[in-house]
Amino acid sequence: MKLGSAFNLGKVFGIQFRLHYTWFIIFILVTVSLSRLMFPSDYPDWPQLLYWTMGIVTSLLFFASVVAHELAHSLVARINDIPVKSITLFIFGGVAQITREAKKANAELLMAAAGPACSLAISGLFGLLWLFLQGITEPIAAMAFWLAYVNLILAAFNLIPGFPLDGGRVFRSILWRITGNYRRSTRIATQVGRGVAYLFILSGIIIIPLHPFGLSWFDGLWLVFIGWFLENAASASYRQAQWQGALQGFTASQVMTSDCPVVPPNITVNRLVQEYIFASGHHCFLVAEEGKLEGILTLHNIKSVSQQNQEVTQVKEIMTPINKIKVTYPNQDVLSVLGQMDESDINQMPVVSEGRVIGLIARDSLIRFLHTRSQLGYR
Ligand SMILES: [Zn+2]
Repeated sequence: MKLGSAFNLGKVFGIQFRLHYTWFIIFILVTVSLSRLMFPSDYPDWPQLLYWTMGIVTSLLFFASVVAHELAHSLVARINDIPVKSITLFIFGGVAQITREAKKANAELLMAAAGPACSLAISGLFGLLWLFLQGITEPIAAMAFWLAYVNLILAAFNLIPGFPLDGGRVFRSILWRITGNYRRSTRIATQVGRGVAYLFILSGIIIIPLHPFGLSWFDGLWLVFIGWFLENAASASYRQAQWQGALQGFTASQVMTSDCPVVPPNITVNRLVQEYIFASGHHCFLVAEEGKLEGILTLHNIKSVSQQNQEVTQVKEIMTPINKIKVTYPNQDVLSVLGQMDESDINQMPVVSEGRVIGLIARDSLIRFLHTRSQLGYR
């Protein structure tokens, strides 16, 4: 999952740490409810300043626990040679952007279980701290108690067996091990995930007016939001599994588009726009001289040039040059091409045979390819 609009906090172990703007909402909610509701009702005789200090410190330690949970997933991914790009805190907790899925069921199981195991361990540590400090320092004991409790909830919540929750990933890895079929296991686990999400939404809707078991309308609303978020994530993973299944077995040469015209490097951007884009509607170009590829060009590159400058700018000045392009080969399987695109954050790869470009694979052309096949009745 990708989240836009986030602040970069810096890199640790090569992993970018980020704060999404929605995190500030949850940080304030947690801090205020600790400082104004929970601590004052359980410990009525602390001074005001202490409520706020302990509220802020406890809240920060809670989010540090969430980061530790994501870091646990990330480190197991690293051990299995799966690069991790970033860890982002956002309104529903944390998310690690792990560049690809595990290739073996065991690796996936360990990677998924590492997060909840870490939360359980943190919960245990704060539980011990609470036991030792109980009669000694009330504020720190109170903080330790709440952190033990909330990390336990975090572990339990994540172990619910609906994909994309950690428990759903554990469930998928077990199915995968039994059936040997990764995509079918993903489809089953994501369908269970959607079921879980609808249960969340339904219980939220029941809790809002009735507030049973001391739960508030706000808890109900929160459950509805989490359910909605999980449903979206599960559906997206389901669709991804569907079209990955549909692309399975195809090679690059079978799905590439060969209609990206070749243009010479020294024509002006203006001529390219007039003659190739307006006249024929092409969106991608291979910049080549005498059949030798020098770069590729998409509308994205062209937009960087203002209209006045299009007359004086040559195509070669704005193309993505060959040394920044990753290429693929005609018989490479298309799913591994997609995996490479994900890992290096690119949207298109030229297909090269004997030093010549014979076509281009772009994400949107893959979608067109599948669409055409299904319209013609192919599965
Ligand atoms: Zn997790």
